[in-house]
Amino acid sequence: MQKAIFLLFIFLSITSCKKKVENVVEAPNQKAEFSIVIHGGAGTILREHLSTENEAIYRAKLEEAIRVGYNILVNGGSSIDAVEKTIHVLEDSSLFNAGKGAVFTNAETNEHDASIMDGKTLNAGASAGTKTVKNPISLARAIMEHSPHVMFSGSGAEQFAEEQGLTIVDPKYFFTEKSFNALKRVKQAQVNAHYNTNINDSKFGTVGCVALDKDGNLAAGTSTGGMTNKRWGRIGDSPIIGAGTYANNNTCAVSSTGWGEYFIRAMVAHDISALMEYKNLSLAEAAKEVIQNKLPSLDDGQGDGGVIAIDKLGNMVMEFNTAGMFRATMNDKGDLYIGMFAN
Ligand code: ASP
Repeated sequence: MQKAIFLLFIFLSITSCKKKVENVVEAPNQKAEFSIVIHGGAGTILREHLSTENEAIYRAKLEEAIRVGYNILVNGGSSIDAVEKTIHVLEDSSLFNAGKGAVFTNAETNEHDASIMDGKTLNAGASAGTKTVKNPISLARAIMEHSPHVMFSGSGAEQFAEEQGLTIVDPKYFFTEKSFNALKRVKQAQVNAHYNTNINDSKFGTVGCVALDKDGNLAAGTSTGGMTNKRWGRIGDSPIIGAGTYANNNTCAVSSTGWGEYFIRAMVAHDISALMEYKNLSLAEAAKEVIQNKLPSLDDGQGDGGVIAIDKLGNMVMEFNTAGMFRATMNDKGDLYIGMFAN
């Protein structure tokens, strides 16, 4: 009997110790007044591929973009405004696969996808396959705020953008030497490989932003040109709410980048939120589970990419399973972090 009581005591001590340790791990960070994270795409971003000069150019653009959002948030602006205006800077740059720098389709056009979500109302807007809207993220926002729908595509979306007074440009505006050469390379590689080459060789550079504002509202947005050489009106995860973008004030805001087909099948952004909501995982644990375990479990680990995310306490996460991801964070103290490579 005495032995049984002694063993029970040992067992209870071990479990209570374990619980304490878990609690330490789970303890939320101090709540931030606001915070913001951006990405400029995940992929084979290796130090040896990027000259010092180019690295500085990417750093400067990431900093310029995130400071736009930071200034909105520090002055009490909304997370939706911060997300939209930050993404404008990235869309207006030819460095990324979004807006101006969008990749080319097989038909030598540029077709944009974008989405945005408001974590307070769970309202969302998305546009797919537009060719003339200068800032697709603003179209996504206009759809969210000024239509009874969530997603528009193609010429109808362009007509709506015009009616909303958004800037419409000649499709030639989106021509960049870099993206056109990438198309030529991918097409040539396909010829060399007798059409067996993976069309996803040149797909990265999507942009995204997640933010928490001083009112505790989360928002997320994503904008992309999709995949080089895409055909048949292919749409990736970026404009799909729950895959490329998701925000919910009860959990987190997420923007994805990577091989869209896998991100759609794994419902990446919503899955991270659901793991927090239903399984009580922290944001870091949830993002890790989805990006490092769930995605790689599909088709022998072909689902490469990453996410940026913020939870309702302002904790920031940048999780990716690729060699690198263009990324930056700023917190309410004004601390700036910029990253590109895995470490
Ligand atoms: N997710 C995007 C797509 O599949 C591409 C990317 O993030 O680079 O369209």
